[in-house]
Amino acid sequence: MLYEKIAEALEVQFEETVTNRRYLHQHPELSFQEINTKRFIKDKLVSYGYTAIAEEIGGGGILATLDSGKPGPVIGFRADFDGLAVQEETELSFQSTQAGVMHACGHDAHTAGLLSIARAVLPLREELVGKLVFIFQHAEEVPPGGAKGIVESGLLDDLDAVYGWHVQGDDPYNGKIYIHKGYAMAATDAFTIEIQGKGGHGASPHTSIDPAVIGAYLIQQLQTLVSRRKDPIDPAVLTIATFKAGEGAHNVISDQAIISGTVRTLDPEVQDMIEQGITDMTENVCKAHQATGKVKYERGYPSVYNYPDETTLVEQLFKEKFGEDMVGDMPVIMGGEDFAYYLKKKPGSFFFVSGGSVEQRDLFPHHHGKFTLDERSMLTGAKAFALLINHYLTKKVGEPV
Ligand code: MN
Repeated sequence: MLYEKIAEALEVQFEETVTNRRYLHQHPELSFQEINTKRFIKDKLVSYGYTAIAEEIGGGGILATLDSGKPGPVIGFRADFDGLAVQEETELSFQSTQAGVMHACGHDAHTAGLLSIARAVLPLREELVGKLVFIFQHAEEVPPGGAKGIVESGLLDDLDAVYGWHVQGDDPYNGKIYIHKGYAMAATDAFTIEIQGKGGHGASPHTSIDPAVIGAYLIQQLQTLVSRRKDPIDPAVLTIATFKAGEGAHNVISDQAIISGTVRTLDPEVQDMIEQGITDMTENVCKAHQATGKVKYERGYPSVYNYPDETTLVEQLFKEKFGEDMVGDMPVIMGGEDFAYYLKKKPGSFFFVSGGSVEQRDLFPHHHGKFTLDERSMLTGAKAFALLINHYLTKKVGEPV
């Protein structure tokens, strides 16, 4: 069986996979600046024997294609490769050599894992049908993100399905994967509200229009978009992150107040409602108090929608191979992921791979300076991809190819 051959190669190469991950961990680069990382990935792919490598796609992505030369499904697998502006505080022997930059989300493991499956499957090309596209993606962490540009390049237009995984570092490694059908991660929007009042003396409010009082009132009102305007079973978050009026003098009414925050939603209809609601409420609350309000609403990544059929496929293949209890349910995450863009275009699924460090006494969350992961998660993730390759790209018995 094709799967067994790929899995065996993955085991044999595991040491190299770890070496690759540790190299990437030692040399993290910020989003849109991943020059050395891209060179590393390309050199590895060339050394494995890949020739169909497209570079700088959508502003920095690398697509490596394995074309069997026979008709069949076209399947994409994606890994992201950017680091974060976080100072590493682990005591690892291979900790970051770049001050203030760290692979604190596990993208090093995603990339080394994808390189390993790309390497393992290439020598088996004669046994495949269809086509595989390995998507190495830059800039997941910083909007507008790398995925959008890669999708807009049109180079993924012939994909039949696309898959990705994220290491789940918050609980100790146990070999499991976690899935969520339907909306799995939130759309991440940002907004800024400008309230224009009329400044004056703190002792004479009647000669001013106080934007601080209006802003305080507006902040309370905005929460009703979440608590009163939408169905309570549809998740949404509206958080005010900053509220600024005045420059520090205690006896001055400021002429302007600035409020900023984030909106997280799953259902695009709820997202539309909240965006419109913030604008309506700001304009009307301000009008009621003789001020003017302006809203700048910026949409970030869309919500991640995991297609039920493709997610069920991952679930079934993994359970058949590793056991019923090796697939768990992932709760909805109100954080974002630009994998959403691939799923806006093509069916597929984004799943999670257990990968918390079991040696760590305390597990630190993603994006923390002490975040660590269990490297065996790379093998688990690669094997999940191998099961999908086996499912989609194996010649069916008796089928002419
Ligand atoms: Mn991440």
